[in-house]
Amino acid sequence: MKIRLAGIVNESVVDGPGIRMAVFTQGCPHHCAGCQNPETHDFMGGYLADTDEILKPMANRKYIKGLTVSGGEPLCQVQAVAELAKKTKAMGKDVVIYTGYLVEELLEKAKEDANIVELLQNTDYLIDGPFIESQKSLHLVFRGSVNQRVIDIPKTLSAGKVVLC
Ligand code: SF4
Repeated sequence: MKIRLAGIVNESVVDGPGIRMAVFTQGCPHHCAGCQNPETHDFMGGYLADTDEILKPMANRKYIKGLTVSGGEPLCQVQAVAELAKKTKAMGKDVVIYTGYLVEELLEKAKEDANIVELLQNTDYLIDGPFIESQKSLHLVFRGSVNQRVIDIPKTLSAGKVVLC
């Protein structure tokens, strides 16, 4: 399946726990003031990549703990991102998703979108919410602004309420 990307970092230590593959999707509707990656906003920018090809380098590297999908806005290409997440979990690795949406919004949309259900079922940690420049902090781990949350998705789905890490 094709996905439009801004870029890939095969080995990152700043996009979640451990050494990870980080995939940055192209296209974002949020336009947060102070966004660090404005070049990822254009939905016609970036380049097209194949989901199976993206994952190949990670499959051969046991020391890579998992996959992080950031953006841009990953949820704008949810079918392809769900496929990346599902195949990553099948390798025994974990999945971190960044989104400018709130998890409550995603859970509501999931009632009518099976791709969001599939993505959430294959996500370990979700960092949610837009970047808010007035709440920016350099002391946060894996987050840019205080409003953003690191959410344990398996626990959230089983508890029926948001469970933070
Ligand atoms: S959601 Fe992320 S990529 Fe999109 S504008 Fe906000 S900070 Fe930038």
